[in-house]
Amino acid sequence: PGSMRALHKDYRTVTPQNFSNYESMKQDFKLEIPEYFNFANDVLDQWTNMEKAGKRPSNPAFWWINGNGEEVRWSFEELGSLSKKFANILTEACGLQRGDRVIVLLPRIPEWWLANIACLRTGYDNHTCVKTKHNEMMAIFFTSGTSGYPKMTGHTHSSFGLGLSINGRFWLDLTPLDVMWNTSDTGWAKSAWSSVYSPWIQGACVFAHYLPRFEPTSILQTLSKFPITVFCSAPTAYRMLVQNDKARNYKFKSLKHCVTAGEPINPEVTEQWRNRTGLDIYEGYGQTETVLICGNFKGMKIKPGSMGKPSPAFDVKILDVNGNVLPPGKEGDIGIRVQPNRPVGLFTHYIDNPTKTASTLRGNFYITGDRGYMDEDGYFWFVSRADDIILSSGYRIGPFEVESALIEHPAVAESAVVSSPDPIRGEVVKAFIVLNPDYKSHDQEQLKKEIQEHVKRNTAPYKYPRKVEFIQELPKTISGKIKRNELRKKEWETT
Ligand code: ATP
Ligand code: MG
Repeated sequence: PGSMRALHKDYRTVTPQNFSNYESMKQDFKLEIPEYFNFANDVLDQWTNMEKAGKRPSNPAFWWINGNGEEVRWSFEELGSLSKKFANILTEACGLQRGDRVIVLLPRIPEWWLANIACLRTGYDNHTCVKTKHNEMMAIFFTSGTSGYPKMTGHTHSSFGLGLSINGRFWLDLTPLDVMWNTSDTGWAKSAWSSVYSPWIQGACVFAHYLPRFEPTSILQTLSKFPITVFCSAPTAYRMLVQNDKARNYKFKSLKHCVTAGEPINPEVTEQWRNRTGLDIYEGYGQTETVLICGNFKGMKIKPGSMGKPSPAFDVKILDVNGNVLPPGKEGDIGIRVQPNRPVGLFTHYIDNPTKTASTLRGNFYITGDRGYMDEDGYFWFVSRADDIILSSGYRIGPFEVESALIEHPAVAESAVVSSPDPIRGEVVKAFIVLNPDYKSHDQEQLKKEIQEHVKRNTAPYKYPRKVEFIQELPKTISGKIKRNELRKKEWETT
């Protein structure tokens, strides 16, 4: 209970946040780290007690559907007893010991949630939850593998178990009255973020849809049929939802807050979503290695295209190659201060990869590997992953800005922009474009010129794609991120 109290002075104070502005939100932030902390015992079981004492609304803790009429609804108490049974199987039948690693490979079925919690509980031969220090290793998540093989990222009971309260409270704006649906698949840290820790810390209901494939219509149906209040999906998914002809036919009566993360979201898409639903998309920025790094928070003005302001957990800065902090307006590496104290919410290390771990440190900062800048108002703007930057005739060009200009053209469904070799300029901008169906029969040379002119008009002319190739689909990770490095590699091998 002590640690839960550290999260909320009193459970009953978990009411809508309604921070009037960013500063008041930051002032409100305090996270005490207890010596011992275990999410299963200190969060979930405490919500069970609240539930029994009638101090939590009758919302389920977990609500699963498979799209074919089957449903599972569990209270915190049921979640607790089922996960304890699962924990017993792990310790007894499987002989699991403290410190062992369990690999969980399951789709979005209820057992995935049970397995996760059961693993936190194990350690003794009965179902009494093991007492864990806050800094003991809790889970290893794979990064998305957007640029190469996924990396194994170590998280402790506090880094995710406690750290993700920042996401739940400030970015997702969750209370026990909310039903949160995050569409991401189980393998990714995003599922830990938004389908486990953040909502349950806040006592909210985790909604899950089995959904083996991404189908826009079934997402739209689910959002209109169930009382989902908070929705999180990848930028790719929002892109597909706003492009769906049937989107206008659906009304989302309960929906009040929409968020996205994982990739930048094109302002064009957020605008279309707002036109259809009346709701803004609150973009967040983070990594498997971290909790929310920057976000757009309720009560704060959204600047379209910006990923908002630093999460209250982190001191986020833009840095030069020597680790010096750069002034507003200057592009550099996005870093998080780790000296004198490593903040809660940051991973411990890449498992079995000390070289990679060491490479992320520069001076007093953890280097995210992303490039961006901060404006005069303290908003952060994502430019690109450091490895995606295009260097053309001495100019540094981030692909996202070009892609965002491209998608404003009616012919463009989506695109990926990468560098391509050029004998004079070193590199030039090349756009791989997926056309909207109506434009597939158009004269392609003419269309190419039109699209190039459009980008010249809408961004600095030196950023326009000198090379354009139309393709059927873009290479993406399972989580839906564009794999620019694959396109880039081919470009440099074959040109
Ligand atoms: P890998 O590290 O294996 O190459 P990955 O970096 O894509 O894959 P994740 O940890 O899932 O793996 O993703 C984190 C990255 O996603 C960030 O470093 C950033 O590049 C990108 N990202 C996340 N949110 C945003 C956002 N709102 N805007 C722009 N980029 C984002
Ligand atoms: Mg990464």
